[in-house]
Amino acid sequence: MQKIKNYINGELVAPISNLYIDNYNPATGKVYSFIPDSDEQDVNRATEAALAAFPKWSVTPKEERSRIMLKIAELIEKNLDRLAIAESIDNGKPVSLARMIDIPRAASNFHFYATGILHYASHCHAMEDTAINYTLRTPVGVAGCISPWNLPLYLFTWKIAPAIASGNCVVAKPSEITPMTAYLLSELCIEAGLPKGVLNIVHGYGHKVGAAISAHPKIPLISFTGGTKTGAEIARVAAPMFKKISLELGGKNPNIIFADCDFENAVKTTLHSSFANQGQICLCGSRIFIERSIYEKFKNEFISKVKTLKVGNPADSESRLGAVVSKAHMEKILSYVELAKQEGGTILSGGHQVKLDGEFSEGYYIAPTVIEGLAYNCRTNQEEIFGPVVTLTPFETEEEVLMYANSTQYGLSAIVWTESLTRAHRVAGMLHAGIVWINCWLLRDLRTPFGGVKSSGVGREGGFEAFDFFTEPKNVCIKLK
Ligand code: NAD
Repeated sequence: MQKIKNYINGELVAPISNLYIDNYNPATGKVYSFIPDSDEQDVNRATEAALAAFPKWSVTPKEERSRIMLKIAELIEKNLDRLAIAESIDNGKPVSLARMIDIPRAASNFHFYATGILHYASHCHAMEDTAINYTLRTPVGVAGCISPWNLPLYLFTWKIAPAIASGNCVVAKPSEITPMTAYLLSELCIEAGLPKGVLNIVHGYGHKVGAAISAHPKIPLISFTGGTKTGAEIARVAAPMFKKISLELGGKNPNIIFADCDFENAVKTTLHSSFANQGQICLCGSRIFIERSIYEKFKNEFISKVKTLKVGNPADSESRLGAVVSKAHMEKILSYVELAKQEGGTILSGGHQVKLDGEFSEGYYIAPTVIEGLAYNCRTNQEEIFGPVVTLTPFETEEEVLMYANSTQYGLSAIVWTESLTRAHRVAGMLHAGIVWINCWLLRDLRTPFGGVKSSGVGREGGFEAFDFFTEPKNVCIKLK
């Protein structure tokens, strides 16, 4: 069986301990490869390599950094099918989704930041004829990038690309649950001629590799995407060391459907925003609030469409939902369905594991689940489930639904369906969220700020915000007379 390797100082190497972790295929429930069980020693080695590469990389002309990154983007595109299949096997998501979203976006991340750096400029503040201030923006040094399992290559590259484009060197850790495409990326970086030590990828557990990156005294900057609890732990370790941190954390996003919406479009898109990637996208709208006058109509139409969604082998182009990422995660999701019942909820659709035949009989499949009859403030409606589970709740007034929507500890994204221009702007302004989609979902322009408020995170990714994060501003003041 294949053994994944770490990518350190330009080479693919085994972990120093020579220990490995089983890597499961969620579609079959079987081990299909092994992941390095790296530890602090490997992180130290990767950090030394990054530190050694930094003096040269940080002054490499941006045009040259850009050229190498464009080559990586091109190689990702060239390997689209191979990467999409690998992502699907590792994560359980439909291959069609990985082919359409995950892998093209990974290529776009490199392309976007490879070209973005050519246009990134800093400020100048003139004090009439007295003095002139200009801001230098220099790379910070070694950046620690830690990413989750739900959009593995997509989110991994979303951090690495702006970090290296702006002249940093990187020690990165993908999720131990979905390491394969990060490993394949390391092969592509070698092929593209990325200088050794610029990017180092250390595989392994969060409490070992992730913790060692967060605590490393020579890694002054941490970019993290993952759960809120892990984010809090990273902040606890990094804050006393005065590290720069960017935290993209959990969500419990509201999807608000007003009676004046474009009904067909709202139902169709809500199907995606509820169940794409088995509901394992931090931006999925898991709390659906529907204005009372169209509640029954929306519910009936939505449920009839949910029942047509095929849960199946991720390689089958007919499958709309594949497997959830792990057995532990499947059990967590199903435990929330039980909790919902205890809290008085009625299961309108799904609510159970799906057993497939043959080689898929041990896979982790869950039927798309819709629940109604829950209070807005019960645990099911307040805690992140991160699976194919949504709740339906009626509301009477705008004021009431805003209170429901803003009632959780989270504030990542929100979706609003209305044809009223004034209401759309008013509600968008009043939602506690970093991102609001009106009459759409997951429509992304990579230049826009991306991130959440409250327990959904600190800082923003995207566009020049990422370059601002990965560089340190220095003001230089020159007296003119
Ligand atoms: P997680 O927090 O368990 O793991 C994320 C990463 O952190 C993994 O690589 C893991 O190994 C590492 N890690 C674990 N413990 C660590 C520690 N003590 N120190 C340093 N690193 C550690 O999250 P997950 O289960 O992989 O991902 C799901 C979560 O990610 C959900 O909460 C989801 O909402 C969130 N997410 C957020 C965004 C966003 O943009 N806001 C995007 C995707 C996912």
